[in-house]
Amino acid sequence: MKPLIEGGIVIIGGGQAGGWAAKTLRDQGYQGRLSVISDEPHDFYERPPLSKAALVQENTTLSRLFSEEETKALNLTWYRPIRATGIDSEKKQVQLSDGRGLTFDKLLIATGGRPRYLSSAWQSHPRVFALRSWDDGQKLRRALLSAKKIAIIGGGWIGLEVAASARLMGIDVTIFERQERLCQRSVPSSVSNALALRHQQAGVNVITDCGEILLDENTDELCIRCAKRPNQSFDLAVMGIGVELNLELAAQAGLELTHGIVVNGQGQTSHPDIYAAGDVACHPTLSLCLQSWAYAQNQAISTAKAMLNHHSEGFNELAWLWSDQYQDNIQILGVPTSQATQHIQRITPTSEVHFSLNNDNELVQMVAFNDARTIKLGKRWMQNSRQLSPLALADPQFSLMSLK
Ligand code: NAP
Repeated sequence: MKPLIEGGIVIIGGGQAGGWAAKTLRDQGYQGRLSVISDEPHDFYERPPLSKAALVQENTTLSRLFSEEETKALNLTWYRPIRATGIDSEKKQVQLSDGRGLTFDKLLIATGGRPRYLSSAWQSHPRVFALRSWDDGQKLRRALLSAKKIAIIGGGWIGLEVAASARLMGIDVTIFERQERLCQRSVPSSVSNALALRHQQAGVNVITDCGEILLDENTDELCIRCAKRPNQSFDLAVMGIGVELNLELAAQAGLELTHGIVVNGQGQTSHPDIYAAGDVACHPTLSLCLQSWAYAQNQAISTAKAMLNHHSEGFNELAWLWSDQYQDNIQILGVPTSQATQHIQRITPTSEVHFSLNNDNELVQMVAFNDARTIKLGKRWMQNSRQLSPLALADPQFSLMSLK
């Protein structure tokens, strides 16, 4: 084994969470050695454009999290593109794929996830694409430029955003979703219906409740069928059936895991010097892995402060995610819950808001199409458990600002 590189803080993962943690550690005055292990060659970058502008527009460049000067000023020791292959939590060491090893005083695991495939046949098919990294996005864009007809496997957020981008490029799109409705896990049925309507109006062929999605392995073409549709050939398919979280290192380090890595409000795992952030870190109060841009950023910032023992109240932010599809900006506050017993819609000429209330008329989730102001209000209502009138919420003439 090569000699160990000694000490400091080590971050595994060069994504949104890893990037914001590194920036926060420096902003908060940490001057020691700060190492980042990333399996991508790039500086930290934003992922939301990958399914939108970076697919549709010519000559887009990587959308950096921090400018080149800011990144340089972080004075990071990069290990890239390289993988961490093991963590020895007792010796406080990380092994790298090139045989080197690092010791750490504190470690942050921000390893994110990798796209899920239906099977290895799908994964190895040359016309099947996934979208997670900048390089994936560029490969997909090149393929879309010569595609006329594509299949999207999974009607979740990746699927819908790529469908909208492909339609903007004039491509014929079919979405295969095995659930009865789009984004079933994250939004109520009224929102799934609104999403389906928008995509159908844009010319997307939306097949829900489609049963098993099958790849014809007897041909070099890409032929797909399901219970509702016979074999059809497509120029390419995009996988959007969720991610597998990269939890192997955490498991091997003996950390407590549930759906993801169990962390407290400070982002600390079951090992006092190992922290976790972003997709892999279970939300400390919701007990689920929130795979959203805002969570990756804000939970990483809060965790980085805690790593320096700076006072932290404990991360307890509401879930919030957004998506841009066609002309619509869609924002979601809160996660689905069995407490949501009333669903109210407020439709104006320019916006559409879906409120979910509990039996006490408190807001538990809301989804707004083109209404960021009401999302801001909703945040306050949720934080203060405000009781709301379903009739007033549904009335487009009623000024919600009067409930500020
Ligand atoms: P996703 O939003 O979780 O949607 C995946 C969809 O595929 C779900 O409808 C899921 O249904 C379905 N599915 C899962 N396994 C399947 C199978 N074996 N066969 C057929 N369908 C299956 O995941 P995604 O769209 O792939 O996105 C990946 C991650 O990136 C997600 O965590 C997502 O939230 C995040 N993301 C976020 C944004 C945003 O915030 N704007 C944009 C893009 C991606 P089930 O409910 O049955 O699993």
